[in-house]
Amino acid sequence: MSNYNWCHGPKCHTHKTQDRIRGVKGSKVLRTRKIPQNSHYIRNSVWSHFCSQGCYTDFMHEHWEEQIRLHPRTECLETPVEVTKEVIEGHYGNYTNTEIKKVDNA
Ligand SMILES: [Zn+2]
Repeated sequence: MSNYNWCHGPKCHTHKTQDRIRGVKGSKVLRTRKIPQNSHYIRNSVWSHFCSQGCYTDFMHEHWEEQIRLHPRTECLETPVEVTKEVIEGHYGNYTNTEIKKVDNA
């Protein structure tokens, strides 16, 4: 197993940064970034495959339809809550403070 992944950003190799430059004078290229898998945090997060928020966003813009097909949401989700409203006297008049608390049903 390799100790790095190539960034999966579809445009990673087009960003003009010094660290992406490879090759000798006359035949230089901008290359996709390598992401070292040298920490627990990196290996267990989306950052194991994306070098930046921009590359992650570019990937999602290009592949969101596949992602939705893989993980479709066919019905809504709900979180049980308790809502309380409290009228509070303020310096410039009364206002209503709304508190939304999650209800733990487990
Ligand atoms: Zn990248």
